[in-house]
Amino acid sequence: MNTVSKPAPPRNGTGLPPHHLAALRHALLEQHRAHREQLSRLETPGTAPGADRGDRALRALRRVARALAFMDMGIYGVCLSCGMDIPLDRLQAVPAARRCGPCQGRRSEARALPDTHSRCSTRR
Ligand SMILES: [Zn+2]
Repeated sequence: MNTVSKPAPPRNGTGLPPHHLAALRHALLEQHRAHREQLSRLETPGTAPGADRGDRALRALRRVARALAFMDMGIYGVCLSCGMDIPLDRLQAVPAARRCGPCQGRRSEARALPDTHSRCSTRR
């Protein structure tokens, strides 16, 4: 009898078929490279760093890197706010999306608040 009580392995959200996952990973890697290029251009010595643009590029880079890390962990495509699967068409439009449409909409409304690290995720 095989009654090993092991926790179920993590799954990517939306039950993403491998070919969709591969395409999304490719898109993320492309974005990652683009953002890094943008950052290295902004960090050219001798020029005053465009603090605002650099900050935005850095944040975008981190978001893409985090999506790739989630993919490796097998939790990619799951909304950070409600834990539901993010629809595939949304992921295809925004591969680094971390929230489903409704949750992202709610967040955008509250964007007046600074995006600090106080919003810790209760999920792991
Ligand atoms: Zn959600």
